[in-house]
Amino acid sequence: MYWTSSSILLRETVVEGYLTNSSPLRIGSGREPPLGAVVDLAVLRIPYKDEFLPYIPGSSIKGIFRSYTSSMAKSAKLDVCTGLAKETCMDLKQIEDPELGEQTLGRYVELKLRSRNSKDAMDAFFKKACLMCKIFGSLGYAGKIRFSDAYPLDENGNPLPVRLGARTGIAINRRTGAVMEHALYTVEYVEPGAKFRFKMECTNLPNYALGLLGIVLRMINEGQVKIGGFKTRGFGEVKFENIRFKNREFPQSVDGILKSLEEGLDSEVNLQGIVRIEDGWQVAEDHDVWSVLEKLKEAWINAISRSRSH
Ligand SMILES: [Zn+2]
Repeated sequence: MYWTSSSILLRETVVEGYLTNSSPLRIGSGREPPLGAVVDLAVLRIPYKDEFLPYIPGSSIKGIFRSYTSSMAKSAKLDVCTGLAKETCMDLKQIEDPELGEQTLGRYVELKLRSRNSKDAMDAFFKKACLMCKIFGSLGYAGKIRFSDAYPLDENGNPLPVRLGARTGIAINRRTGAVMEHALYTVEYVEPGAKFRFKMECTNLPNYALGLLGIVLRMINEGQVKIGGFKTRGFGEVKFENIRFKNREFPQSVDGILKSLEEGLDSEVNLQGIVRIEDGWQVAEDHDVWSVLEKLKEAWINAISRSRSH
């Protein structure tokens, strides 16, 4: 059975904690200020109880993870698609079928599902789709990872203090490089020290995929991957606080062992001595989480060398 299948539960993995910003953080609506206008660019807010809280959408966090894992997979010589509309494996990969003729992978999967042949659909998806589509999803396939919206809330759901600041920017004419007249705009941002609750939930991800995601978690924590806008001006540096890793295997495995979920590519990871067992979950906290991710990274490195020898 493939780990991409939605009809089987092999593993649940959660990484959660707080993202706290050490430099200004700007999560906006993504619009550029119109040139020649005085505008205020507010940070993204969401109504919560009787106030509006700045937050980091889960979709933005997911985008960061997809983009960095994708470029690492590419530099490891894996064939991965961009994931953009009309450019996913579902759109680009072709499949030849004795009955259906030549179809795109997406169309083939759709036709097979319609004729209640989910085995053929799953087989084709698993063999043809790239690792990014399998992890993050593709046209008509939900993916195996979810990022929650990150709100400044404590464990009990009470808002944490967030200080906002504003900076005035000057709009530059992109063609001439000259400062535009009357082209000041104000950009709102979150002052350093705010805390946003982070949660990443994975279903059935093999050890090598978790290892790849772990590299991005570390790059974020070390400031190599920034979040939000104005990155070139030093915005968007965040660190993890109270980070926690939880994993459970189905059927339950020997304590501390993460089974290989894909023959020929994945490898078993032994976390004995790093994780403790709590209600059937393998749990690690704070610096132990980074040790767990380091172990999982070995599975990613193994997977790269195995995929090359094929
Ligand atoms: Zn793909």
